[in-house]
Amino acid sequence: MHLIHNRRRKAHLFFTLDATTPTIPAMENHAHSHYSDGSSPLAQVVLTALEQGLTQLIMTEHTEPQLTQGNGWFGDYMREGREIRGMIRGRNLNLVLGLEVPITDFSGGLLWDEAMKGQVECVLGAVHAYPGHGWNLTGLSPEEAIDLEYRGLLALLDNPLIDAIAHPGGVCQRYVTPFPDELFEDVVRRAVEREIAVELNPAYLSPMAPYLDLCRRHGAMISPGSNAHALREIGLARQVLNRIASGRVTLEKNIERKKGPGGLPHMR
Ligand SMILES: [Zn+2]
Ligand SMILES: [Zn+2]
Repeated sequence: MHLIHNRRRKAHLFFTLDATTPTIPAMENHAHSHYSDGSSPLAQVVLTALEQGLTQLIMTEHTEPQLTQGNGWFGDYMREGREIRGMIRGRNLNLVLGLEVPITDFSGGLLWDEAMKGQVECVLGAVHAYPGHGWNLTGLSPEEAIDLEYRGLLALLDNPLIDAIAHPGGVCQRYVTPFPDELFEDVVRRAVEREIAVELNPAYLSPMAPYLDLCRRHGAMISPGSNAHALREIGLARQVLNRIASGRVTLEKNIERKKGPGGLPHMR
């Protein structure tokens, strides 16, 4: 019961696109600072969010040790984050100190420690390195990549500690082959049942209109996430989604889905 309660409490961090919320709220739910592999100090990221008029910023630092600042980084991150929160009290910005936590297996394993588990304010669950394969995707057939990605997503959906799912299908889509629409829809359907938010992330899903439409049809909780590593990327997901929601981009699905730009393994 506690976990269900916990999940319900987090629903306010996300939104459902419907008659009461026809546009995308001013939120950025996926950003990295110096504490992991982002290019700017945390304070700078928060300042940029304020300048942009965002009302919510969820920081989602990586937990893969090679992507972080090293020993003790998590304590420093939480301490500075709370300090900054004190300094911006009175400003209209909800700063949430979250983590982007990857799966380590297909049965509930996540890459984090007890301190992270106990203190983190929002858990963005991710499929990054495929369990059993690591970062190296060479030699994987499209079918294998789709299967690994999908099983990873199912593991996240089964995990009561996950609040939102980062870039569903994204690693498969960006590095191997388009992730099938029917599996994405299955993930959305299960996410609705479990009150987990689905991230819509233009860095991985393009064009985004069909995905937004799918989330709207299923009444899914949406988490707009840009995977912002640089200041200029903050708020991008919201901008792209708002162009679609306001009808400035048609809901056509005929634009060819591209594999992303190769990308560096650390930009996840
Ligand atoms: Zn990320
Ligand atoms: Zn990621």
